[in-house]
Amino acid sequence: MPQENFDCDVAIIGAGPTGLMTALQLGRAGVRVCVLEKRDEPFTTPRAIAYDAELMRSLRTVGVLERIEASFVHDLGVRYLNAKGKVLWSSTQCPQAFGFAARGTYYQPDLERGLSEAIAELPQVTLRRGTEVRAVVQDDDRVTLDLGGGTLRARYAVACDGGSSPTRAALGLRFEGETFTEKWVVVDTLEDQFPDDGIFFFCDPARPALTVPNAGARRRWEFLVLPGDDEAEVSSDAWVRARIAERGGGAGFGIERCVIYTFHARYAAEFRVGRLLLAGDAAHVTPPFAGQGLVGGVRDAGNLAWKLAGVLQGRFGPEILDSYRPERLPQLHRATGFAVRLGGFIMTRRPVQAWMRDRLMRLIWSVPPLRDYIDRNDPVPHNVQRHSPLVRRRAHRRVGRLIETPELSVAGRAARLDALLGPGFALVGLGVEPETVLGRKDRDTLDRLGARLLGVETGGAIRDPQGALAKWLGRRPALVLVRPDRIVADVMAPGAGDGQLDWLVGAYALNQPAITKEKETA
Ligand SMILES: Cc1cc2nc3c(=O)[nH]c(=O)nc-3n(C[C@H](O)[C@H](O)[C@H](O)COP(=O)(O)OP(=O)(O)OC[C@H]3O[C@@H](n4cnc5c(N)ncnc54)[C@H](O)[C@@H]3O)c2cc1C
Repeated sequence: MPQENFDCDVAIIGAGPTGLMTALQLGRAGVRVCVLEKRDEPFTTPRAIAYDAELMRSLRTVGVLERIEASFVHDLGVRYLNAKGKVLWSSTQCPQAFGFAARGTYYQPDLERGLSEAIAELPQVTLRRGTEVRAVVQDDDRVTLDLGGGTLRARYAVACDGGSSPTRAALGLRFEGETFTEKWVVVDTLEDQFPDDGIFFFCDPARPALTVPNAGARRRWEFLVLPGDDEAEVSSDAWVRARIAERGGGAGFGIERCVIYTFHARYAAEFRVGRLLLAGDAAHVTPPFAGQGLVGGVRDAGNLAWKLAGVLQGRFGPEILDSYRPERLPQLHRATGFAVRLGGFIMTRRPVQAWMRDRLMRLIWSVPPLRDYIDRNDPVPHNVQRHSPLVRRRAHRRVGRLIETPELSVAGRAARLDALLGPGFALVGLGVEPETVLGRKDRDTLDRLGARLLGVETGGAIRDPQGALAKWLGRRPALVLVRPDRIVADVMAPGAGDGQLDWLVGAYALNQPAITKEKETA
C-alpha cells in the first residue's frame, strides 16, 4: 500500500516511559512514529523509583542519561532491620554492571522529560498530547485509530497505555495472574530528614515498612496497610507523619504525594494481535519490590523496536514479531517471581516465619564468603535469552546474554563498546578483522541484517587495554554477533568455514534485499 495511505509507520498509544522509549528507538532507526497521549501534561508525581544497571545502559545508549544526570541517586547501600531495630543485614558494596552501580534511584518525571526532549529532536517522531485514542480497528494492511475528532492510519500500533490498558480490554485479552490482598501506603517526601542516605527495610511483623532515598532530597516511605486499618486514616497527613517519625524520619519534611496501592503480578494472554502490539504495564505488571516495573517496559521497547523497524524496512518478515512475547515472558516471570518472593520474605507478618528469616539472614551474614557473594551479585534475574531461536545458544555460554560494554580505546580516545556498535546489528571481531575471514555467504547474510563490522585488538584503531572483552568471552580470536538490543546472538571461531550464519535466514525471517533481487533478475 502506498506511503500516502498512512499518517505514520507506527502509532504509539500512551506517552509513559514505555511509549516514549519505544518511540525514541523506532525514531532513531528512521521509522515515522506518532505518539498519542490522552493527558495534556506529563505526570508530575514519582511512581517508579529504583533503577538497575540495564536501565542506565539503555538510557545512555539513546542519549537520555546526560540530559537528566542530576535526577539520580547512585550506589545505594541497603540495610535490613528486625522488629527491635537491630541490623540483620547491611550491604555497603553495590554490585556493578555495564559501568554503573546496579542499585540506585531516579525521579520518574525527570526521566520522562529526558525521553520527551530526546524525541523532540527527531523530526520523524511526533508527540501529540491531549489526544485520547477511543478505539482501534485493523485490517490486513493497516491499523486505524479513532481519536474522537479524527482518525490516524498506521502500519502498526503499539499500546503502551498502562496497567488498565483500554486497548488490552478492547481486544478482550485476559490479564492473567494475581492481585495481592495486601495494600501499601506509598508516601513521597521532600526535604528529607532521615539521618542515613541508604535504603532501609524495616522487617517488623507488626507493620513492615521500607524507605528509599530519591533525587532532590526526596525520600519514599512505604507502610503495609493492616487488616482493620481505616484507609482514610492511614493515608492522612497525621498518620503518615507519625509512622515516619517512629522510623527516624524526623518532622520537618514536606509531603509530595501519599497514595494507597494494591500490587499485581499479571501478564496479557497475548502481546501481539495482528498489527497491534502491547508493551510495558499494558502487557505485564509486577509488584515493585525488585524495581522491575518500568525497567520491564524499557526492556520491551528494546526487544520490540528493532524487530518492528526491521519489518517496516523490509529486512525481516512480519513473523519475527511473534518472537517478542516468547523472548520477553521468561525474564518477566523470573523478575516478578523474584519480586513476589522478596516481598514475602521481607514483609512477612507471621511471627514464626519472621523469626526464621531473621535467623537465616544472620547465619548468612556470619559466613563472609556467602555474605560477600550475595553482596557483590545483583540477585535480580537478568535479561537472558535461554531458549529463543533468535540466538544460537549452543555456540558459547555467553550467547543469549547482554554483551559487556567495556571502555575501549579508539585511536587513543576512550569509548564504550556500545558507542561503537551503533543502533543496529554488529559483528565484533575480537583479535581478528571480520572482513578478512568472512566468506561470501556470511557476508551476504550480514548485509541483509545491515550489520556493522568492527575489529577489536587487531592491530587497528580499536584497542581493549584492559583485555575486558577477551576476559568476558574467555576466547580469542572470535567473532561475536550482537543484536541491536545488545544480546549476543552468536559466537563463532574465525576460519570455521563459510555459511556459519545461515541459521539466521530462517530464524529472523530474513528477506532478500532489493539490490540482491535486482542482481538475480539481471
Ligand atoms: C507505587 C509504585 C512504585 C513503583 N516503583 C517502581 C520501581 O521502583 N521501579 C520500576 O521499574 N517500576 C516501578 N513502578 C512501576 C512503574 O511506575 C510502571 O511500570 C511504569 O510507569 C509503566 O510505564 P508505562 O509507560 O508502561 O505505563 P504508564 O506510565 O502508566 O503510561 C501509560 C500512559 O498511557 C496513557 N493512556 C492511557 N490510555 C490512553 C488512551 N486511550 N489514549 C492515549 N493515551 C492513553 C496514560 O495517560 C499514560 O500516560 C512502580 C509503580 C507504582 C505504582
